[in-house]
Amino acid sequence: MTSSGNSFDCNECDLRKTCRRPVYGSGNTESAIMFIGEAPGETEDNVSIPFSGLSGRVLRKAVGNNHYFTNVVKCRPPNNRKPTSKEIKACYHWLQEEIETVKPSLIVFLGRTSYSLHTKLYDQYKIPYLFFYHPAWAMRAGKVKEWAGEIGDIIRSLQQ
Ligand code: URA
Repeated sequence: MTSSGNSFDCNECDLRKTCRRPVYGSGNTESAIMFIGEAPGETEDNVSIPFSGLSGRVLRKAVGNNHYFTNVVKCRPPNNRKPTSKEIKACYHWLQEEIETVKPSLIVFLGRTSYSLHTKLYDQYKIPYLFFYHPAWAMRAGKVKEWAGEIGDIIRSLQQ
């Protein structure tokens, strides 16, 4: 089953006042692997699909599309700033809902903001996890090839 979450809305923090629309996670809701990024960017804000912009294309090309993709916060922060701890807290229950629906056997945290939730999520769900640099970091650092090779190899090896 796939979901796009287009009818999803939420007003529990101030991010909703400046974003176009919230972006719920989407993809294969029966996937064994859940990728968690930081927040929607401009493209995601426009089309309501997580990881649909440039860094998303890098990620999806490396790991494939048949997974579940989501973010720590569902609304795009102004100018792509980092979400505050208050915003992350307000949004946390949506992530819990996604984990309880998808029941992944592996969580992949992409970037530090996402990884900041690893202890809390592990304590609650005991789901094994991996941490990778965010694809946007790989792009900025000029290391897309290395980053994509590494994450792609690991994800493929886990699917065999
Ligand atoms: N960066 C993220 O962390 N998530 C997205 O959905 C897009 C860019």
